[in-house]
Amino acid sequence: MSLLVQKYGGTSVGNPERINAVADKVARLRKSGHDLVVVVSAMSGETDRLINLAKSINADPPPRELDVLLATGEQTTIALLSMALEKRGCPARSYTGYQVHIRTDSAFGKARIMQIDEKRIHEDLKKGRVVVVAGFQGVDEDGNITTLGRGGSDTTGVALAAALKADECQIYSDVDGVYTTDPRIVSEARRLDRITFEEMLEMASLGSKVLQLRSVEFAGKYRVPLRVLSSFQEGPGTLITYEENEMEAPLISGIAFNRDEAKLTIRGVPDKPGIAAHILGEIGKANINVDMIVQNVAADETTDFTFTVHRGEYQKSFEILERVAQTLKAREVTGDDKIVKISVVGVGMRSHAGIASEMFKALAKEGINIQMISTSEIKISVVVDEKYLELGVRALHSTFGLEKPGHSAA
Ligand code: ADP
Ligand code: ASP
Ligand code: MG
Repeated sequence: MSLLVQKYGGTSVGNPERINAVADKVARLRKSGHDLVVVVSAMSGETDRLINLAKSINADPPPRELDVLLATGEQTTIALLSMALEKRGCPARSYTGYQVHIRTDSAFGKARIMQIDEKRIHEDLKKGRVVVVAGFQGVDEDGNITTLGRGGSDTTGVALAAALKADECQIYSDVDGVYTTDPRIVSEARRLDRITFEEMLEMASLGSKVLQLRSVEFAGKYRVPLRVLSSFQEGPGTLITYEENEMEAPLISGIAFNRDEAKLTIRGVPDKPGIAAHILGEIGKANINVDMIVQNVAADETTDFTFTVHRGEYQKSFEILERVAQTLKAREVTGDDKIVKISVVGVGMRSHAGIASEMFKALAKEGINIQMISTSEIKISVVVDEKYLELGVRALHSTFGLEKPGHSAA
């Protein structure tokens, strides 16, 4: 008999019929002898609705109160799913994050799970109950309700699976696995049977929203057997693996993209030690994360300095940079919040040269200008104008032959 932690996302519990369908499946599995902990998201659209509701009352809602409000989305679905299970003669108990002591830090809106007290869950499982837990939420040391950031129910699922030492953590969504890229952008995208943990980590951090980045980090830390599946159709889904066989690895496994990007440039800053530290120090003080950074070769003893931030922090960054520019007597500050980042990811890149030039050639052929580049061992990212997002992703998908099974192009 195995212990499964299953997480059902917003579309999977989006209306009463879908909640009933999830209950059918869970009740069937319970009957066949599995122990089950089920994590659910809010019904699709609900979290957005609650955010808008809050903003209609207060444009800048206090983060603590926003979390109290947002946590209600998931509280609704745990109750409904448990009712549906009980109706099927399947004993079930619903719990909020607070009730099962999902202890987090106090960073409202982006809290991190520190600890889970799994005692109560084990007791229920022993009594033959299905335990239904609200995703996306926890409680801090002082008893405040916290939430884990958008997509955070994935992390609740993986963290519970780690704490309970589950045999598998299954993330059920509206796609039947992890694809070579978002199937909404490229219809030829293909489901991967397996993806290495490292690749999944890069894909998630570079913008593939199929798994929240934090959930992948958690899975890696505790080696949680993790699988992404569809709640609408049967199938093997995609298994995240921890062993990799470089010999068999395709050059490129997937393409990720991120629309939430913006870039800023400060021109004509003195080219001397400490300048980069000063500029980024001011941005860091405002708690803004910087992603890519480029500094030009100096001409006439001054240089240009460009970096990217999350689009939501563009305005704030611009204002800070204008102040910095005055202090440094820089020439000007410019910016662009209509940019995107496209990345190719693959562990096979480690042992192959020439992927970057292949990538740049493919983009040039489509007339796509590359504004910034960054690379690591297993990924290459470029920043381009947002109007080229779909064209760029499609061109790269076909250049690297990702639509073909067992692809290994270039
Ligand atoms: P849920 O509400 O179940 O958590 P999400 O919307 O968060 O589901 O994640 C699933 C979505 O992720 C898919 O509908 C798909 O559009 C998107 N997605 C982005 N990149 C990928 C990828 N590489 N493979 C699969 N899905 C992806
Ligand atoms: N309901 C939350 C969101 O929409 C958490 C989740 O679905 O994972 O982001
Ligand atoms: Mg999600």
